[in-house]
Amino acid sequence: MKVDVEQGSGFCFGVENAVSIAEDALRDGEQVYCLGEIVHNDIEVARLTALGLRTITQDEFERLHNCKVLIRAHGEPPSTYEKARENNITIIDATCPIVRSMQEKIRKVAELSREQKGQIVIYGKEGHAEVIGLMGAAGPTGILITGKGDLDRIDYTRPVFLFSQTTKSKVQYEVVAEIIRLNMEQVSPDLPATNLKVHNTICRQVSGREPRLREFARQHDVIIFVSGRNSSNGRMLFEVCTKENPRSHFISTIEEIDFKWFEGASSAGVCGATSTPRWLIQKVAETIAGK
Ligand code: SF4
Repeated sequence: MKVDVEQGSGFCFGVENAVSIAEDALRDGEQVYCLGEIVHNDIEVARLTALGLRTITQDEFERLHNCKVLIRAHGEPPSTYEKARENNITIIDATCPIVRSMQEKIRKVAELSREQKGQIVIYGKEGHAEVIGLMGAAGPTGILITGKGDLDRIDYTRPVFLFSQTTKSKVQYEVVAEIIRLNMEQVSPDLPATNLKVHNTICRQVSGREPRLREFARQHDVIIFVSGRNSSNGRMLFEVCTKENPRSHFISTIEEIDFKWFEGASSAGVCGATSTPRWLIQKVAETIAGK
C-alpha cells in the first residue's frame, strides 16, 4: 500500500516559533513555566516537559513570584502582563506575531470607535486561549459570538467591527458576517453599510490548508488524521477530511492505529493539525508503511 504524508501538515509557523523559543529558554537549565499547554498535543508537551518546561494553570500563575513564564502562541490578555509585573515575573513572550498584531489592531479599533459606541465582535470558541487574549484586548466593548445562536448579543443600531479567531473556518466566518450584515440592514436600513467592518483575520496557514486537505483526502483510499483531542483546529480539519473521505480516522497516538482500517485499500494519506508535530506525522506514516 502506498503511504503519503500531506506536505502542509505539521506545526504552523506560530507554534513552531513558540516551541523554538521554549527550547532556547530551557537551554540554560533554569525553571521555565508555561501558562497553559504550549501546544494542544500531549506528545509534544511531554517532550518539552522532559526538557524542563512546566505547564501551569491560570490559578498557579496568580500565585507565582520571581520566575520565568512563557506565553504561548495563542497570546494572553493585558491582565496577565499586569499580574507578571506585580509579581516580578519575567515574561518570555512567544505570542504568534499574527495574533499579536491582531490584538494590537483590536485595541486600536476599540479606542478609535469609542466615541461612536462601536462594538468589537469576536467570532471564536468560548474559553479558547487566543479568544481570551482577544477579548482582553477589546476591553469592555468586546462581544463574543460562538455561532449564529449568539448574534442577538449585538446591538445592530451601532457600528460593528468583526474579527475572527485565527483558526476558525473561513466559510463559517463569511456566513456569520453575512447574517450580521443582513440584520443590520433590517434593523437600521438608514445606516451606512460602512457601519459593519469585517476584518479578515483567519490565519492563511489554516485557511490555505482546507482546500489542500480536501484534495488530499479525495486522492487517498484511507486518511489518518493525527491530532491532540483538545485541538479545535484539529477537529475542524478532521471534519474537512471526513466530508471528502468517509474512511478518515482520527488518532492522537501511534498505538491507536487499527490496521483493519486499511483492508482493501491501495493508498493511505497521513495528515494532521497545525498543532501536530511533523515528526509524529512522519512516524505514523512509517508505522503504517512498515506493516
Ligand atoms: S494558526 Fe496562524 S495565527 Fe495561529 S498560531 Fe499558527 S501561525 Fe499563528
